[in-house]
Amino acid sequence: MIGLISATAAGAAARDRLAAAWPDRTRVYEGPVGEAVRAAFAECGQLVCFLATGATVRLVAPLLGDKTADPGVVCVDEGGRFAVSLVGGHGGGANELARAVGELLGAEPVVTTATDSVGLVGLDMLGLPCEGSVALVSRALLDGEPVALEAEVAWPLPPLPTSPQGAYTVRLTDRDVVPGEREVLLRPPSLVVGVGASKGAPQAEVLGLVEEALREAGLSVRSVAELATVDAKAAEPGIVAAAERLGVPLVTYSAEELAAVGVPNPSHAPLAAVGTPSVAEAAALVRGGELLVPKRKSERADGQPAMATCAVVRRPGRGRLAVVGLGPGARDLLTPRATAELRRASVLVGLDQYVDQIRDLLRPGTRVLESGLGAEEERARTAVAQARKGHAVALIGSGDAGVYAMASPALAEASDDIEVVGVPGVTAALAAGAILGAPLGHDHVSISLSDLHTPWEVIERRVRAAAEADLVVTFYNPRSRGRDWQLPKALGILAEHRQPTTPVGVVRNASRPDEASRVTTLAGLDPATVDMMTVVTVGNTATRIIAGRMVTPRGYRWQDGGQEETR
Ligand code: SAH
Repeated sequence: MIGLISATAAGAAARDRLAAAWPDRTRVYEGPVGEAVRAAFAECGQLVCFLATGATVRLVAPLLGDKTADPGVVCVDEGGRFAVSLVGGHGGGANELARAVGELLGAEPVVTTATDSVGLVGLDMLGLPCEGSVALVSRALLDGEPVALEAEVAWPLPPLPTSPQGAYTVRLTDRDVVPGEREVLLRPPSLVVGVGASKGAPQAEVLGLVEEALREAGLSVRSVAELATVDAKAAEPGIVAAAERLGVPLVTYSAEELAAVGVPNPSHAPLAAVGTPSVAEAAALVRGGELLVPKRKSERADGQPAMATCAVVRRPGRGRLAVVGLGPGARDLLTPRATAELRRASVLVGLDQYVDQIRDLLRPGTRVLESGLGAEEERARTAVAQARKGHAVALIGSGDAGVYAMASPALAEASDDIEVVGVPGVTAALAAGAILGAPLGHDHVSISLSDLHTPWEVIERRVRAAAEADLVVTFYNPRSRGRDWQLPKALGILAEHRQPTTPVGVVRNASRPDEASRVTTLAGLDPATVDMMTVVTVGNTATRIIAGRMVTPRGYRWQDGGQEETR
């Protein structure tokens, strides 16, 4: 429950907005603020005080106990401009609450806990189990002390400001080691345990076998990602219970799929029983990896035949490639998802001028691999190669990274051993369209006039097709110093099918500080005013200039009141 306390009319108004938005999560405390704060502190997990920070500090201070148990306290000022995470930023969830309250009330969240304000990811926030001196090593990272990262397993971690050597270590390992005094162990879910069991195998026998196999091989139970077996054993009680006890999912494969896996120790027994010469080894190996523990059988005190088998495989983490569009330039046209991916990546690959555009968003420790114009294929290859090594990589491009940009050369290189995530961006045609008016209101096409990678005959054929089909056309890469005849030629082809008065929009540096745009006509356009920072949008035969804006109607039927299209 979130206790809400206010003193003034403005505070009460903001408080009521919060209470109305979260009716089931909030409770309003009325009356003198001192008593209200004391009551809420005792009864609620979190407090939002619509009071000055000073007043709140005085009221809360005598009540504070332990940071793991105290409620999180957020202050909102009288003007509703700031939501300050005051107490219990992590443990009490006040940082999260400040963000949520800020979003609801349109206030800026103010977060001052160290890891968050420096943009570091807390070691306990990486989504991996961790052991050891988390607070000490986090502190060392914050203080800029040398912290070494020892990754025994490839894993797409977010960025950490580590150095090659250091007095402190962050160790990414699935081995059953004890953390040193100045060490944090991160446990990647890298181990797959294949299990087989005869009908009715006791849970203790299956679980005991798995735990012993891990222990003897020196592997950590906390790195087990899943148990794997054959479909026919999906409901075998001993296996199901073992997975539950380990807190991991049970994954099953068909006998056919398992029979196709090459294993060191096939045998006749499972072949007869379930139709594959190997269950444990094959189920552990079916998605690839390194066999750390070959098949072993359970041992029974009563000397009866073993009822369970297991094998352990290490599967290296799949690298992650995010292909991120940065939008046309303005920061507020960069999507929140793109920002999140830039901060998620430990390796950033891109053209130097685009890297400059977002450098301030990167977390400390991000490795930046920037290159100049032209090195496109090399950039694509580098990004994929880094992801293949198991890193979390972001490959950036302006506008949308899939439009005349890096996504296709990168994905042409990538195989399915890496995870690929695409983040769309506002492409130049859309950014320009919004500036010009509504030129893209009906069918439209983008054509790049760069004949660097495409023969001119192909480009010309497409321009002609667009002209004949009466499509609105946006020209990308319209004209450069060495490439000046293509734009007039393309406009000439369109002019064979459109009036000289057809509206044409020219937008240079859309959404950037030196943005410029004008609306002219096919006959009036001076190609010399167009360069590589520009897109040129040519209307179709229905496009009009209305109040200085370029407008392409949705179609005659719709204009006449036809209802079949939705807006
Ligand atoms: N991926 C980019 C396009 C790359 S091709 C995107 O989706 O926008 C490069 C061409 O895009 C430039 O020559 C120019 O024609 C156009 N362009 C990119 N950004 C632009 C902007 N902010 N304003 C105008 N044109 C732009």
